Amino acid sequence: MKIPVLYYHKIDYPKNTAILKGLYVKPEQFKFQMKVLKILGYRTISPHELLLFIKGHKLPFKKPVLITFDDGYKNNYTYAYPILKNLGFTATIFISSGYIGKTNAVMEQNGKEKQPENFLDKKDIIEMSDNGITIASHGINHYFLDSLDDDGILTGELLASKAILEDLTGKKIEFFSYPYGAYNAKVMREVKNAGYKGAFTTNKGKTAAGDNSYELKRISINGHNKIFNFLYKIIFLQ
Ligand SMILES: [Zn+2]
Repeated sequence: MKIPVLYYHKIDYPKNTAILKGLYVKPEQFKFQMKVLKILGYRTISPHELLLFIKGHKLPFKKPVLITFDDGYKNNYTYAYPILKNLGFTATIFISSGYIGKTNAVMEQNGKEKQPENFLDKKDIIEMSDNGITIASHGINHYFLDSLDDDGILTGELLASKAILEDLTGKKIEFFSYPYGAYNAKVMREVKNAGYKGAFTTNKGKTAAGDNSYELKRISINGHNKIFNFLYKIIFLQ
């Protein structure tokens, strides 16, 4: 068995001025995808449960799925959270802590996108953390961690983002996702040294027992995916 780890960015209506419209999954579309997962008998798991599976433990459910969001957009709280909650689903949100409570242009794809977005504020993060959503780190400034000149900046991105989110939630922050999916052996080593138990990439595929915990694969879900694309990715993609 392999486990699909899905990743989303924005659950929202695409803004007219946005360039990367695929990063928006409409709330109705997301709701339908989650309902289909529920009907098919999928059960959402936490990154901790994924780690147990990687290390060879047997999970007590047949169809596990891990749902993740990158960057920490406000719309994750406004639209995705109520939908997940209604279905009894959980998810993991990777937050760039330097953006908390701000309205900023998104940093995807080398600054190609200039569309300003609202980011989660402290209150949103605390509420979701208290209600079963796993809060995790996506660094502070959304840098390409594989191309930083200064090792101190890399360490700071990993340690300070962890500390900020731990302070906010009162929980241990144990998982990381690489901004832009950019990493190398050194970044992986530093993520481990900073005390994270696992890190997620944007490398496409499902997770198998024995996989490297600092190089976890994910499956991108974008706004252009019709329900059959979505199901294909979850059921047939390896
Ligand atoms: Zn990102």
